[in-house]
Amino acid sequence: MIMNYKFKPLTYNVCLFSVKDPIPCDLRARVVYKFSCAGCTASYVGETVLHLATHVNEHLVSDRASHIYKHLERNETCLRICSKKCFQVLDSAATELALKIKGGPKHVCY
Ligand SMILES: [Zn+2]
Repeated sequence: MIMNYKFKPLTYNVCLFSVKDPIPCDLRARVVYKFSCAGCTASYVGETVLHLATHVNEHLVSDRASHIYKHLERNETCLRICSKKCFQVLDSAATELALKIKGGPKHVCY
C-alpha cells in the first residue's frame, strides 16, 4: 500500500518566532512611565522621549527640579531603598505627539 502524503510548504507569511528581540524596558524611548516609591505610597506618572534609563537617572541623580528627586531628597528612608526598579513602563508611542496625547498631564501622588 502506497501512502501519498502531501506536505504543504511553509510560506513566508507564517511567523514561527519573533523576528526582532524585544527592546529592554530601560532602552525604550517615547514611553509613559510610573514611579512607585518603595518607601511610602508616593507615585508619579510621566512621559519621556529619552531612553527610560537616561530619564530615570535624571530623576534619581541629577535633576533637582524633578518631583521624584525632591521627594527622595526630603525622605531619607525612601532615598535609601528606591532604585530604577521603582519605575515601570505603562505605555509607549511611535511619535512624540502620540506620546503627549497618551501621557496627558503629569500626576504626582503623595
Ligand atoms: Zn517615598
